[in-house]
Amino acid sequence: MMSRDEEEPVRLEPRFLLDAMLGSLARWLRICGYDAEYPGNIPDEELITLAFKEGRILLTRDELLYRKAVREGLESLLVEGGSDAEMLRSVSMRFNLKLDPERSRCPLCGAELKAADREAVRDKVPTRTLKAYEDFWICTSCGQVYWKGSHWRSILEMVEEAAGGERS
Ligand SMILES: [Zn+2]
Repeated sequence: MMSRDEEEPVRLEPRFLLDAMLGSLARWLRICGYDAEYPGNIPDEELITLAFKEGRILLTRDELLYRKAVREGLESLLVEGGSDAEMLRSVSMRFNLKLDPERSRCPLCGAELKAADREAVRDKVPTRTLKAYEDFWICTSCGQVYWKGSHWRSILEMVEEAAGGERS
């Protein structure tokens, strides 16, 4: 656990706001089940205001923005690491995140996914895919359909790599 008072009631999972340089990290946080908003290119001041308003932790690679956020009293992390795996590790270690792709949110928009059967996705995926898989998930916001296709293994490997650093 983080060095927080043990008596403190259980906190909700951290929610994040990522700066324009961290689109890829936002997708990975969503894949691991976290609420990660990524508004793209907006001025620093708006980003900080948005984080305060929505109770989000600011993740950035911009040292100036980081210092500004901290000065204004916003919880923020200057993300370290070169690769996606290293960046994800830096965030997960700082906030003690459980990295589990089984809890994935929609990588595209960040909304929650809900399980769906074949019937529900019949006209949304290629016939070949429909025949090959039984379990599907639909985004509750954008409607994107997901299944554990050939990319699933590489997702697991990437997340394992990110989590691996904590063992040493
Ligand atoms: Zn979506």
